[in-house]
Amino acid sequence: MEQSFRIAVIPGDGIGGEVIAAGQQVLEALARGSGGTCRFEWIEYPWGSAYYAGHGVMMDPKGLELLQDTDAIYFGAVGWENVPDHTSLWGLRLNITQNFDQWANIRPVKFLPGIQSPLRRADTADLGWIVVRENSEGEYAGLGGRNLAGRGPGNEVAVQTALFTEAGCERIIRFAFDLALDRTVPKVSSVTKSNAQQYGMVLWDEVFRRVAADYPGVETESILVDAMSAKFVLQPESLSVVVASNLFADILSDLGSALAGSLGLAASANLNPERRFPSMFEPVHGSAPDIAGRGISNPVGAIASGALMLDHLGLPGEARRLEQAIEAVTASGIRTRDVGGSAGTAEVTEAVIAALRATAAGGAG
Ligand code: ATP
Repeated sequence: MEQSFRIAVIPGDGIGGEVIAAGQQVLEALARGSGGTCRFEWIEYPWGSAYYAGHGVMMDPKGLELLQDTDAIYFGAVGWENVPDHTSLWGLRLNITQNFDQWANIRPVKFLPGIQSPLRRADTADLGWIVVRENSEGEYAGLGGRNLAGRGPGNEVAVQTALFTEAGCERIIRFAFDLALDRTVPKVSSVTKSNAQQYGMVLWDEVFRRVAADYPGVETESILVDAMSAKFVLQPESLSVVVASNLFADILSDLGSALAGSLGLAASANLNPERRFPSMFEPVHGSAPDIAGRGISNPVGAIASGALMLDHLGLPGEARRLEQAIEAVTASGIRTRDVGGSAGTAEVTEAVIAALRATAAGGAG
């Protein structure tokens, strides 16, 4: 039986357009080779900083209504020099994640074959973990304000409040434990700074202990964020699932993807687990203005985000095939410059498509 999926595509800014086009080509090839299992209908929206230049807003004011009617959103990157970063981020990406209650942001840290990690122990240890980011509140709740500018230059006041609700902490922590149950090492590391942030993050720690009691088979640890950043480098083999607040997990997942070899490799999923709203899939990296438009951006993070999307759409077999194709390509030495190769975006994309064809021909997956 053929399944057809309506996917909203928002390439956004900078290399977002290049890597999302690469991901679409790969997913189209996969659909063609699926023996009629799946089909994608792409609905592209030109929202982003160029749209802002023409319309004064980052996305169509009716954009959320348009997106609501889709099965998933495939997103590139947001951020360009013509728009202040906080305006572009809140006007597009956070507008979608917040209003669609995509409260779980999953960011796997994957060590791919053939990619050199700056970590020496990556050569001998089997590394790989998942950062689970609370994606709806915490430090990115958008609460606060700027005021008292009337006091004159140098006297303005700004307040930025982090929001921690018991329900918000519980749902993301429980999500992390459920994820850990399916992993070879069932372990959850919780990250806070509760010694200094004595209200919200102490609440987080308390909820973590309470939820942990429901999962006796899962090993746990609670670690301060400074210690965890050291642990990412010094004891990465001890990590399985790492759950943290919005800001901390954002920073830690960038560190994780750098340790795995490049920001360009890392995938992410912004999930609304209840499926009241479409979920959104995007590479972890941003718009990378320094390399935009040169055809050299690494498409692996965007393509791997496509694999996370396939999982979410109920196509786990196709998702594994795509992940295996990515691994076959990195192992074969076809790599972009950020990971020590000389291939362009198109060459890596074509190689992934060829690897998919090879597995289809071989009957694998
Ligand atoms: P943001 O502020 O949203 O994180 P940014 O543009 O400041 O965005 P990123 O784009 O996330 O930063 O990445 C930082 C640098 O890493 C880029 O300037 C680029 O050199 C490199 N980089 C990121 N993504 C890729 C990619 N897909 N391929 C190659 N290099 C990349």
